Amino acid sequence: MNVTELTLTELRRRLRQGSVTSVAATEAVLQRIIDLDNDLRAYLTVSDALALEMARDADERRALGEDGPLLGVPIAVKDIICTQGVETTAGSRILEGFIPPYDATVVARLRAAGAVIVGKTNTDEFAMGSSTENSGYVTTRNPWDHEHVPGGSSGGSAAAVAAGLAFGALGTDTGGSVRQPASFCGVVGMRPTYGRVSRWGVIAYASSLDQVGPFGRTVADCAAILQVIAGHDALDSTSIDAPVPDYEAALTGDISGLRIGVPQEYFAEGLDPQVDAAVGRAIEQLEAMGAQTVVISLPHTRYALPAYYLIAPAEASANLARYDGVRYGPRCEGSNVVDTVKQTRALFGAETKRRIMLGTYALSAGYYEAYYGQALKARTLIQNDFLQAFESVDVIAAPTCPTTAFRIGERTADPLSMYLADVLTVPVNLSAGCGLSLPCGFDDAGLPIGMQLIGNTLQEATVLNVAYAYERATGWNRKRPVETR
Ligand code: GLN
Repeated sequence: MNVTELTLTELRRRLRQGSVTSVAATEAVLQRIIDLDNDLRAYLTVSDALALEMARDADERRALGEDGPLLGVPIAVKDIICTQGVETTAGSRILEGFIPPYDATVVARLRAAGAVIVGKTNTDEFAMGSSTENSGYVTTRNPWDHEHVPGGSSGGSAAAVAAGLAFGALGTDTGGSVRQPASFCGVVGMRPTYGRVSRWGVIAYASSLDQVGPFGRTVADCAAILQVIAGHDALDSTSIDAPVPDYEAALTGDISGLRIGVPQEYFAEGLDPQVDAAVGRAIEQLEAMGAQTVVISLPHTRYALPAYYLIAPAEASANLARYDGVRYGPRCEGSNVVDTVKQTRALFGAETKRRIMLGTYALSAGYYEAYYGQALKARTLIQNDFLQAFESVDVIAAPTCPTTAFRIGERTADPLSMYLADVLTVPVNLSAGCGLSLPCGFDDAGLPIGMQLIGNTLQEATVLNVAYAYERATGWNRKRPVETR
């Protein structure tokens, strides 16, 4: 058996037993990247020398009797997260060649846990997109079918984990960018509660929505990564100062008596019948395991997508103003300052420019109340929907995405059709809750279907446990897209 087929938790067990070394696991992953990633393009940068150095260090530490939660485990990091000494572009040409002088807190925590950083994964530019087609560099392919997108914006991370090019990965989820690609690539991905994980050193897209989350081939793998990255960080003023539960210990698989809400608005027009059927069967499975399901209503769901596509671009337009050719990345020398800034900003891709313009417009005097102000009001209504629902249910179950992975090029000409991929994920970002996507079947074309489990504020452990119970009973995650040679 090839070591890259192991799950993260299996690898960790074998590393602890001494039946495999971190160097062997890392070399196997790097070899697989050489074999597969020319086609797949999950990585923008493979930090092979650093990875091998970290792996050797991990093996030495283990030989001295040391251990760590991820000691020796190869992990991939979305290229929007700063890594000291390793190029970080956020998928944008405007940051080409930017080598951060420091680590994001999440990366520092991975290092402290002993993880091996394999490289930086592809993303839509500044995490704006649902397919990686907005990346300034390459489009990542879906490991299940190379003609299809892997989802986005953390499509590189999802594809890397699905194809065995890393044992786990970090992504960011501002409007669904962990859950949606997890759904499209048949892996598990979680968006923790806003503030559960530090955003320090994560290149900002929409600051009131951005959150880092883990990808794994199993729920336990996600729990293991979340355990390492969660927790208070004084460097991020929005970080929640609350104790971090033992997520792995919470995976008992016992969900009897748990109340699961099924929101009728998430099973509406536009939902692919095969997705509808698979998620329906998954909910029946949860019932069969002793959970109690109830139909609920989240009445303001239809305002979520328009509210998100005002709030996120508004915040992006403010965050992206810093890319002026003076402080970061390449500068295009013009005849004067204004010309220099103008030419440098021409490096932004079309979608990024569209969002900057949308956001600037929504925030401009005279339109602020009509657009941004209204969107904030809708956000409050959506938050209240969830708060009310969680008075009577513990977890909400729904599809992650209305469809399975669409074809490369299918939605690029029509931004609205692309935005619709996020219709079932953005409500969680606008609320104060958390969400996870896990595989719950395949469509006729063999593409994975994802179920979304949503929890109240800081209820990650409950969500993970429901997902774990389902995964253990069904085992969809055991089917892999790429066979190992
Ligand atoms: N697809 C959504 C967008 O384009 C969400 C992106 C994200 O979560 N980073 O904004």
